[in-house]
Amino acid sequence: MDVFERFESEVRSYIRGFPDVFTSAKGARLQGRSGREYIDFFAGAGALNYGHNDDAMKRRLVDYLAGDGILHSLDMATAAKENFLTAFHDTILAPRGMPHRMLFPAPSGANAVEVALKLARKATGRQQIVSFENSFHGMTLATMAISGGPARQAAPMPIVGGTTFIPFDGAEGPGVDTLDRLESLLSDTRGETNLPAACIVETVQAEGGINVASMEWLRRLQNICRGAGMLLIVDDIQVGCGRTGSFFSFEPAGLEPDIICLSKSLSGLGLPMAMVLVKPACDSLAPGEHSGTFRGFNPAFVTATEALRFWRDDALEQETVRKAGIVGARLDRIALRYQEVTRPPVRGRGLIQGLSTASGAVARRIAGKAFARGLVMESCGPERNVLKILCPLTIADDDLVRGLDILDAAVAAVAAE
Ligand SMILES: *Cc1c(COP(=O)(O)O)cnc(C)c1O
Repeated sequence: MDVFERFESEVRSYIRGFPDVFTSAKGARLQGRSGREYIDFFAGAGALNYGHNDDAMKRRLVDYLAGDGILHSLDMATAAKENFLTAFHDTILAPRGMPHRMLFPAPSGANAVEVALKLARKATGRQQIVSFENSFHGMTLATMAISGGPARQAAPMPIVGGTTFIPFDGAEGPGVDTLDRLESLLSDTRGETNLPAACIVETVQAEGGINVASMEWLRRLQNICRGAGMLLIVDDIQVGCGRTGSFFSFEPAGLEPDIICLSKSLSGLGLPMAMVLVKPACDSLAPGEHSGTFRGFNPAFVTATEALRFWRDDALEQETVRKAGIVGARLDRIALRYQEVTRPPVRGRGLIQGLSTASGAVARRIAGKAFARGLVMESCGPERNVLKILCPLTIADDDLVRGLDILDAAVAAVAAE
């Protein structure tokens, strides 16, 4: 690790929890230079829902490179982009009756969120954004301003204002509907233009500790937005692309968001790519009002088009639900068995699940012991005490069970200390 310590900035982060030099990966397995093989329960923070180095995506990419396919094109028309637009429309949007247009920002989740804010402010002529406590929307200044989690407190400089924070579903106990707050805030606002432009929400707060919003709460949020002329933005960057089962995380709630942010697993192979879906009525930016050099990275269009093969039927969705059952049952057992270090109940939806532990230090010790036994996993939440299970959706059952066995052993080892 010497080279990294000597030459790389202190800001490096994940490297510190996973001290090995990774050399190759396939499916849900990572190879370390130490000679150790790891099961991946982190999946690039949700950028690798289809696992590492999917054969078909890789072949498409290699063929594209070998054929001198266009690599860089600003946002000019390319065959690769045309194929993606058509395939995403036919496979995802049309079957769901979604009228949204596709907007390509710079290839990061944060840039997708920034464009969503611009679109909403311009479409409504309003400024304020409603967001939720413990949310995470990125690490640029504008996205930190609407993130309610620790990232915001860590901001080293004054950040952009204009955000109102409301507690997320369940944050104030089972008897409290936190949207009552939003309603009273809106009814106290004088003047149409002082109302918020939009509300941005994650259906499952991932970085915020795996907090799951109920479908009723999400539907009520959409109704409140409609009533106040606010746009509903769903940040599906981490829990979209099938993480909870359906392609979009909001499908079981029947939401029709005005704007949807996607990134992480969109390219399928882990290549940088982001996309904002926007209803035609909110597609408010004039030509060039959002720009950037790397908007629409053609190799990512190629692999993203291939990734859509997973969405031509419901096989992956069924598999995700089935595997979620395996994970949930095992986490329940672990949580009950080691209550000196865990804090049941297990939380999550689909293949994003969390095991709450007594503290951030305990979670760090468990993750450290898991890593030493060959499992890569992270913790999240404001206290970083929630161990997060975020395996590839395509993980083989054997690897899934082996990863859960390692987690079990790591929790047992820390409980015995
Ligand atoms: C990761 C993430 C982002 C930011 O994406 P980057 O590519 O890291 O900029 C925004 N929102 C959510 C919900 C995320 O998980």
